[in-house]
Amino acid sequence: MAQVNYDAWPDEYEAAVSITFDDGNDTQLNVAVPELEQRGFRGTFYLSCGGDDWRARLEPWVPVHERGHEIGNHTVGHTCSRNFKDGPGATGLEDMTLEEIEADVLEAERRLGELFPRETRSFAYPCYMTHVGTGEGRQSYVPIIARNFIAGRGYGEYGFSNSPHNCDLAHLWSTPLEHMRGEQIVGLADLNLRRGRWEIFTLHHIGGARLGTAPTEFNALLDWLDRHRERVWVAPVAEIAQYLRDEVQ
Ligand SMILES: [Zn+2]
Repeated sequence: MAQVNYDAWPDEYEAAVSITFDDGNDTQLNVAVPELEQRGFRGTFYLSCGGDDWRARLEPWVPVHERGHEIGNHTVGHTCSRNFKDGPGATGLEDMTLEEIEADVLEAERRLGELFPRETRSFAYPCYMTHVGTGEGRQSYVPIIARNFIAGRGYGEYGFSNSPHNCDLAHLWSTPLEHMRGEQIVGLADLNLRRGRWEIFTLHHIGGARLGTAPTEFNALLDWLDRHRERVWVAPVAEIAQYLRDEVQ
């Protein structure tokens, strides 16, 4: 039998799961938060905080924060690759410096700290992208995230979650759940349990949007987690990362 990680986890837990959401749309507030809370789970919600109206836009999340969910950092500018855009003259991460991206995430942290104060917070790389510059000048900004946050959520190989012993907290792997059937999602959760790992699921919309997950399929995951709640530790990213840093790595 392959080596597993059950002993790494606290209490009787054999594995861990974090349920994360990006960009803070209404279906998260109106559907995801109530469904999570109905089962006593807390999620991580990565909100970017750009625009003059950032405070008004983020205010509906204050009660969510107060009920114990993690509000995570997702930058001010939500800058991704310029390759998303067509035609000449477009700008993106390729045109930024490490100093500029650090200034952005620290400004986001200052804004989030005003509305959602907490001791530790995790970060999610917009579009899962971790570099600035191009070609020979391309540089990772993972070290900046490592310096400023308990954890950073990136993108991993499908079918693999995080080993509690071997994962890089500054670049955790996650699995996007858009357009996925409940059977497949539950299969991933079960595989994670059998391996004693930490699965971080990433969702955007609940419903039929481009990056949507249908409510029935989302609930299939939550019901499975509810039935396995003695064995699977479900918690926000910052809490599990803090535990791994203090106790395991
Ligand atoms: Zn995003």
